[in-house]
Amino acid sequence: MAEDCIFCKIANGEIPSNKVYEDDKMVAFKDLAPAAPVHVLLVPKAHAKDITEASPEIVAHMMGKVKEIAASLGVAENGFRLVINTGDDGGQTVKHLHIHLLGGKALGWPPC
Ligand code: AMP
Repeated sequence: MAEDCIFCKIANGEIPSNKVYEDDKMVAFKDLAPAAPVHVLLVPKAHAKDITEASPEIVAHMMGKVKEIAASLGVAENGFRLVINTGDDGGQTVKHLHIHLLGGKALGWPPC
């Protein structure tokens, strides 16, 4: 666990969140400021600042859970978007790897 990391604290239950999924390696919880009707964050329990620091195994584990989580949120059929903001130019504000899962409406593109 990294000190002063809000997603570490959410992952270990120190800070409350609206969890939609949890296992021994990751959690998924509702984004505090949703950008779509469905907006959850998939977060590894082990701290990694971003996708460049995370192990391929944990990335694969989280990606492997996407279908199940999307289905549980009712967006698997119509579709959804995964976003991994990385670093300053990528717009990452919380420096603990997270995958945004967004859906529940037709999303615009490009994002900027
Ligand atoms: P990013 O800009 O990709 O780093 O995304 C960080 C996301 O974390 C934003 O969408 C925030 O709304 C969300 N966020 C920050 N703090 C919390 C929190 N305590 N609970 C849920 N979502 C949060």
